[in-house]
Amino acid sequence: MPTTTALTRAACEKLDAGDPLRHARERFRIADGTVYLDGNSLGAMPASTPAAVAQTIARDWGTDLIRSWNTAGWANLPQVVGDRLAPLIGALPGEVVIADSTSINIFKLLAGILSRPALLAEPSRRFILTERGNFPTDIYIAEGISAMLAGRYQLKVVEGGALVDSLDETVAAALITHVDYRSGFMHSMSALNLAATRAGTSIVWDLSHSAGAVPLQLSENGTDFAVGCGYKYLNGGPGAPGFVYVRQSHQATLQTPLSGWFGHTDPFAFALHYAPAPDIRRFLCGTPPVLGVVALNAGIATFDGIDLASLRAKSLALSELFWQLMDDRCADLGFACVSPRDKTSRASHLSFAHMHAYPIMQAIIGRGVIGDFRQPNLMRFGFTPLYTRFVDCWDAVATIREVVVSGAWRDAKFQARNQVS
Ligand SMILES: *Cc1c(COP(=O)(O)O)cnc(C)c1O
Repeated sequence: MPTTTALTRAACEKLDAGDPLRHARERFRIADGTVYLDGNSLGAMPASTPAAVAQTIARDWGTDLIRSWNTAGWANLPQVVGDRLAPLIGALPGEVVIADSTSINIFKLLAGILSRPALLAEPSRRFILTERGNFPTDIYIAEGISAMLAGRYQLKVVEGGALVDSLDETVAAALITHVDYRSGFMHSMSALNLAATRAGTSIVWDLSHSAGAVPLQLSENGTDFAVGCGYKYLNGGPGAPGFVYVRQSHQATLQTPLSGWFGHTDPFAFALHYAPAPDIRRFLCGTPPVLGVVALNAGIATFDGIDLASLRAKSLALSELFWQLMDDRCADLGFACVSPRDKTSRASHLSFAHMHAYPIMQAIIGRGVIGDFRQPNLMRFGFTPLYTRFVDCWDAVATIREVVVSGAWRDAKFQARNQVS
């Protein structure tokens, strides 16, 4: 990528022409005239999703009815799709299952760990460690668990940079999000896993902003427990179910507190008492949301044949380009990037602080350039290498410049706060 010569739109087109992943964009439906830079919040719709869901509705449900639990494989779908996701996150077959929302999956793993009799019997381990910048739902769920267990564990909230040193003998479990939803800062999983092992504690990782965005090696980097989101970079659609990863060696000993029948070793035995499945199935709870899992399967299929190293290289090239264009073309307009300059600690989105971030974001969305706003003053832009083009970066920055220089963002209609930002 040229870094010294001035960039032009034609130069960006040239980058697209030479992009080895450019064909992957055909796997999505993105309306003409839309520059979509919010795949980190809701992945774009895969071209194959409508037909996959329609077939499940019309043929499997409409015609075959309840037989489809067997004939269409509905009963095993959470494990089958989990196995399909596994290579994207560096997990082994049988270590991932699709289930519930990320919030609920955090509850299952964290409450499961904290309810272990051996840990309860060790009063010096009294903290649930997390970081201040963690995604709110993660912190809320941890607070709920602390209250539910009558304050046996207290939340310890530290700055991200203090996590490694805070992993000590007082920690009962840590809840750490790999990639910061605001800044895009990415922790070193192996360094933190090592620190947790030394301190004799466990980390539950939240991979919501990393699965499908950056290569992950859960087996190799010593990860024991993780959850993540299906509707962001995995393109599973609004409210898609999330996933649970539990290292093989922990599956037989970790109990989920949500002991529902789909986690039973033999749900259709209709036995009187709960007996957890010996494997990853025990992290299911109720009946799987089949339509959602089918759509998530189509989302995960958009990664078929994609080399994750190329994906990462393109993600970084896109964010470098965007940042450079902001520096070149919007330098005097009051934006300050809050994302890490160092590429190795940055995932796949950038955030820019601005005094008028909210109305500027609304104004560019009005012109078809879709990012999002995050409190208190951030404009966030996600780069999803399967469908984001280099010209999209150019067009987005040109639109930002136009909206600010013209003062178009001052229009009253861009000031009103929507329910979802
Ligand atoms: C998006 C996101 C979630 C979402 O949780 P839901 O239960 O699906 O609403 C949780 N944690 C993080 C870090 C996220 O980025």
